[in-house]
Amino acid sequence: MNDLLLGCIADDFTGATDLANNLVRAGMRVVQTAGVPATPLDTTADAVVVSLKSRTIPPAQAAAQSVQALRWLQTQGARQIYFKYCSTFDSTAQGNIGPVTDALMDALGCDFTVATPAFPDVGRTVFKGYLFVGDVLLHESGMQDHPLTPMTDPSLVRVLQAQTRRRVGLIDYAVLAQGLDAIRARISRLRADGVGIAIVDAVSNADLMRLGPALADLPLVTAGSGVAIALPANFGITPNSQASALPALSGFRAVVSGSCSRATNGQVAEFLSAGRPALALDPLALCDGDEAIERALDWARPLLGDQPILVYSTAAPEGLRRIQEQLGVARAGEIVERALARIACGLVQSGVGQLVVAGGETSGAVVQALGITQLQIGPQIDPGVPWCAAKSPIAGGTLHVALKSGNFGSPDFFTGAFGRIA
Ligand code: ADP
Repeated sequence: MNDLLLGCIADDFTGATDLANNLVRAGMRVVQTAGVPATPLDTTADAVVVSLKSRTIPPAQAAAQSVQALRWLQTQGARQIYFKYCSTFDSTAQGNIGPVTDALMDALGCDFTVATPAFPDVGRTVFKGYLFVGDVLLHESGMQDHPLTPMTDPSLVRVLQAQTRRRVGLIDYAVLAQGLDAIRARISRLRADGVGIAIVDAVSNADLMRLGPALADLPLVTAGSGVAIALPANFGITPNSQASALPALSGFRAVVSGSCSRATNGQVAEFLSAGRPALALDPLALCDGDEAIERALDWARPLLGDQPILVYSTAAPEGLRRIQEQLGVARAGEIVERALARIACGLVQSGVGQLVVAGGETSGAVVQALGITQLQIGPQIDPGVPWCAAKSPIAGGTLHVALKSGNFGSPDFFTGAFGRIA
């Protein structure tokens, strides 16, 4: 059996990478897998992040897949389980954060856990149970327009309570400020009051570091990726530089973007305004068979080289709504994800060896199409986004990928990312 310390289950692919990135920075050697592996882990790692694509599937399926991941992690010896969701708490009214947490708690036989998407490094803070994105509340952050999981209520206690049969409580900033004994006392009090899941405030990394030791005894932690900075110390691990080295780079550079988040719209705009080669996909044209995909690849091939090219479906809220009204939300998402995945494969077959993908769901689809099952986590590009090395049968060797979830990355990410690995 592996001596795995932390077994993590992430509800989408970029979220998994984001978590793995934080664990690497905190000193852990981390392997990320795509889906639940069929075989035991074949490398040594302190933490494994199993990435699912369970954020928007029916709740019962999300719960079943998460428990399957839990069982595999247990066979690898995982001492603590970490359920990772998005730092903007992305979920529908039905779930899946609540139902998955319930299922994992049932499977682990545990009566209490915490829930906090706080990730101060990227501006996600929780205060009095309300989630802020930068300087504004969640429902004013652009997340109210998300294609699949529009977030219209910033109160995490309310949002989570609607999704779980357990009672939801709060460990607020005032308790956190007092340190470990106060946090422990608050947890005991909440437990005695029948609370099963406590939202936790955190407005700074110092808050998260104060919280960390109080989580050491919990069989299950649920959080965004922020809390990860505080967990390795519970196992005696401190930051070190060894884990993030990657194999040498090769191949051309390209970006595919299926994220419609505000930050991604800005990154596409910046790429266009720099006069770089970019091709917009029309989702309606993608409905008529594979011709539009072939056209995109024919456009891209002669342009491939050291300078990145961009293929994108990224649209501003109004354009997105128009497409969704015509095709339906789910169908539009599937058509675009499939097309971008096919295009990514075509680009890699044409010699792209350094690929940036924007969008959580989009990244899941691309990674699946490329046949990637394991990722080695390398150096961080921007908070939440590392370069990774992966074996892909389509690449015929090692491919470098950066998987950016929607709202992450600086405005020049689509060019700057390449500079930060070269
Ligand atoms: P993010 O990380 O920003 O949430 P995702 O890739 O997870 O990005 O989700 C974006 C979803 O929107 C995907 O399902 C994608 O296929 C879909 N999508 C992308 N562009 C369009 C578009 N122009 N019209 C409709 N749906 C789109």
